[in-house]
Amino acid sequence: MKKTKKTLMLALMTGVMLTAAACGNSASKTEDSSSGGDTAAAGTPQVGVAIYKFDDTFMTGVRNAMSDAAKGKAELDIVDSQNAQPTQNEKVDLFISKKYKSMIINPVDRTAAGVIIDKAKSSNTPVVFLNREPVAEDMNKWDKVFYVGAKAEESGTISGQLIVDYWKANPKADKNGDGKLQYVMLTGEPGHQDAELRTKFSIQAIQDAGIQVDKLAEDTAMWDRVKGQEKMQAFLASHGDKIEAVLANNDDMALGAIEALKAAGYFTGDKYIPVVGVDATAPAIQALQDGTMLGTVLNDAKSQGAASVAIATALAKGETPTKENIGFDITDGKYVWIAYKKITKDNIADAQ
Ligand code: BGC
Ligand code: CA
Repeated sequence: MKKTKKTLMLALMTGVMLTAAACGNSASKTEDSSSGGDTAAAGTPQVGVAIYKFDDTFMTGVRNAMSDAAKGKAELDIVDSQNAQPTQNEKVDLFISKKYKSMIINPVDRTAAGVIIDKAKSSNTPVVFLNREPVAEDMNKWDKVFYVGAKAEESGTISGQLIVDYWKANPKADKNGDGKLQYVMLTGEPGHQDAELRTKFSIQAIQDAGIQVDKLAEDTAMWDRVKGQEKMQAFLASHGDKIEAVLANNDDMALGAIEALKAAGYFTGDKYIPVVGVDATAPAIQALQDGTMLGTVLNDAKSQGAASVAIATALAKGETPTKENIGFDITDGKYVWIAYKKITKDNIADAQ
């Protein structure tokens, strides 16, 4: 029994060393390739970062923000989970085998965080989750688990208020004069807290302002611009000019909807419809300037990236993250909440 265990250990260690050697070149650009995973160049710790998929506009902004924030502080190995949880789990195993000092994970499926936390805990690799919030039960599994994100309900409330502002300032917004707002909703990925809560709280804010609503259609476009365009085409085919407002859980879907609306003759002459999104990505800011998008909500990629890297770096150095060493407030010992902000063509600078 003892002997078998020893042999197994040896085999495992050789495997780990081989993996570390094989990956040394690609993972670390600055260090001498002869060193293993746990000795980073210039004393900066190595941190593994797994993004749910690279092909996501908002997460690309966060990725760039992380790389900027890490300069001189940590060496990031950022990988694409290709929207598959099994792939992400393999990436986590690899980070652990490379003996990275901490990890930043943007889960594919936020309900699968528990598995990742178990792996993190048993290898003592602290983990920071980002953008897709694990359930509280998982967050409480270990004290070296953190979450960086934004309060989804806040973004919903703000996007609803954008519609309220427009409705109150423009009596003609009620096209059929029935005193109710006929709207369509493009939702993000089902199960994502931002999709569920933005949908709910945007409409809640409109109703709280005393406006009655009439939902003509709601469908998921999976955060995606092309799908947003297709779904909007379908909404137009069945409801046409009865639609008085378009709400989208993010900018990419709102921009897709705008394409479909343009093709249907909107935004020329006085044919107009208010469209709101969330994120304040560069193309959305352009649409605000063009007058096709009414408003959006800044989802602060820069701060989310910076906070994640700051926490992961502190943890990698064996420190306990505090406001002093990360520069952001920590709530309940494990959450960093980044504020959202209302953006219209009048305060574009706030989003740049
Ligand atoms: C953003 C979306 C993005 C999603 C990815 C959300 O917070 O608003 O644009 O696709 O996160 O998880
Ligand atoms: Ca109406």
